[in-house]
Amino acid sequence: MTAISDHLGGHALKGSRFGAAIRRLGTAFLLMFALSAAPAAAQQDGYRIYISVDMEGLAGAVTPNQIIDDGNEYNEFRQIMLGELLAAISGAREAGATEFVISDSHGSLQNIPLEGLPEDVLIIRGEPRPLSMVEGIDNGEYDGAMFIGYHASASNMEGVRAHTFSSARLSEVKLNGVPASEGYINAAVAGQFDVPVILITGDDATIKELEAVGAEGVAVKRAIGFHAAETLTPAAARKQIQAAARRAVGKIDSYRPFKVDTPAIMDVTFHYYRPAEVLSWLPQVERSGARSVRFEGETPADALKLLEFALSYSIDLTP
Ligand SMILES: [Zn+2]
Repeated sequence: MTAISDHLGGHALKGSRFGAAIRRLGTAFLLMFALSAAPAAAQQDGYRIYISVDMEGLAGAVTPNQIIDDGNEYNEFRQIMLGELLAAISGAREAGATEFVISDSHGSLQNIPLEGLPEDVLIIRGEPRPLSMVEGIDNGEYDGAMFIGYHASASNMEGVRAHTFSSARLSEVKLNGVPASEGYINAAVAGQFDVPVILITGDDATIKELEAVGAEGVAVKRAIGFHAAETLTPAAARKQIQAAARRAVGKIDSYRPFKVDTPAIMDVTFHYYRPAEVLSWLPQVERSGARSVRFEGETPADALKLLEFALSYSIDLTP
């Protein structure tokens, strides 16, 4: 934010008695203006925050029962998802954030109960969409991004429900040779648009795996196995997430966008041979193994779009 005094020098009147009087008046005026304008300016010029919300890394989530449409605890966990999101928004507001765009980032990409949201936020929902969990991160300027309810990668042996983008179809994704979680790839895409990730929540394996991103981390549960954890209660998780969001936004200028080398090389291993075989017919896709392909994007977003194409395209799609 540019200080208003930078624009008001008064040098043109320098040297005359009249000018001195005007300068004294001007100084008094500027002081008054600075005192009265400071809080209002902070409110008008608040931070704009992008929040991507998944479900596997919510407090209490351990099995599909909580996170798939017909799971008998799914509706309860939609409320827990909303609660952790609202906690992040509250904490961010306390430290000066005023604008929020929320990306519903789990499964069908439409889980968050809309009526529970404050009226001054925008929500990105529905699928398919080219940047998936970080769709819209390239639309306008963001001061920071938060990843709530995130989980570890398909290559991680410890995380609860650990997978990368599709547990049913993918067994590994690497970005520039690094086994990559959704959080890692999404952070690289955010970084491409100069948006630093400032807060990540999920289980302890997720927080550890994403240390390189440099965000504030909240582990809401300790992974015991793929389908088991020792977890905070939702109420305790909300309290920790709100405090961490407040801390993160309070020092938002200290975070740096997470940048990866370009071109971004993506190695994708499917569970089965057929997608690898068929995708390799595209000139930009190389078959690197029986079930694996390699491709490169000029940017991380380009690589993610090709991965999303591979996961979304189906000749059987209905309109
Ligand atoms: Zn998910």
